[in-house]
Amino acid sequence: MGLKEVFVLPVARHWIAGTDMESALKDAKTANSKGIGAVVNFLGEEITDAATVDAHQAEYLKLQQAIADSGVNGFASVKLTQLGLSISEEDARKRLGKVAANAAGLGQLLWIDMEGSQFTQTTMSIYLDAVSAYRGVGVVMQAYLRRSEEDVKAVLEHGGKVRLVKGAYREQPDVVYTTRESIRENFRKLMGALFDQADGFAIATHDSSLIEDAKKLADSKHTNFRFEMLKGIRDDLKAELVSSGYTVFEYLPYGGSWYAYSKRRLTEHPSNIWLLLRSLV
Ligand SMILES: Cc1cc2nc3c(=O)[nH]c(=O)nc-3n(C[C@H](O)[C@H](O)[C@H](O)COP(=O)(O)OP(=O)(O)OC[C@H]3O[C@@H](n4cnc5c(N)ncnc54)[C@H](O)[C@@H]3O)c2cc1C
Repeated sequence: MGLKEVFVLPVARHWIAGTDMESALKDAKTANSKGIGAVVNFLGEEITDAATVDAHQAEYLKLQQAIADSGVNGFASVKLTQLGLSISEEDARKRLGKVAANAAGLGQLLWIDMEGSQFTQTTMSIYLDAVSAYRGVGVVMQAYLRRSEEDVKAVLEHGGKVRLVKGAYREQPDVVYTTRESIRENFRKLMGALFDQADGFAIATHDSSLIEDAKKLADSKHTNFRFEMLKGIRDDLKAELVSSGYTVFEYLPYGGSWYAYSKRRLTEHPSNIWLLLRSLV
């Protein structure tokens, strides 16, 4: 066991279900018992060797079957670089087709997470092809990206589904809005377009002000949408939304590659430094 496992894994468990599929299914059942659906992600990204890509594809097919077999209300969320996008766009396209076909056969949705902006164009291209064959596949749109307004339009024109998030990667200022308020403003703009034109989309944020705006839009538009939030963040808010009658799903990551994901969660909010420090004493 390395230093990361000793010092960071205990804190990372706050945001990840565990290191194996069994832990993810257990967390999914716990979420379901609170009226919350599960979006399950097998951790990993930017994979550059074919054998690992094979293993990730196999894990997703197994996960989708396990969700069906265990009667969990939930579905999978995958990153295209887990399916080989860093190696070959064509290979990732074919592999996504297999995972999407498996989801469709089991009557499940499938989300595609959005990664750093070097992958946005290829992810969009693969997604727009996939959604014409598999209507249950949705893609993440990041409000911090300047191009997202055009991308949301394209997704809606293709009858696709959007999970709207702020965006989690370190990007150059020419491609993203950089202030908290400008990101929020773009989130509101994109959210307005979704409430006007889309169906079955997800508002994925823990930001109370944006959630209040979504609730107001929901009151006037009566659209089919859900809130999605990450494991370990704002559990109070999840419960409050469920008890007010909103549909809420929780994103539950699991797997051995927990470090990059946990580092992102740890550093995006200053209070988490206390979590880390407390675990050391
Ligand atoms: C379901 C889901 C899926 C996502 N998928 C993607 C994806 O595919 N691609 C991508 O780039 N990003 C993704 N994200 C991450 C997203 O882009 C943001 O980085 C993350 O949600 C934090 O932004 P926020 O909207 O919650 O707003 P923030 O302003 O960051 O947070 C609002 C409030 O939520 C709480 N909070 C937020 N984050 C934390 C934290 N780490 N620890 C403790 N409290 C916190 C705090 O109270 C904070 O004040 C996803 C987020 C969710 C909820």
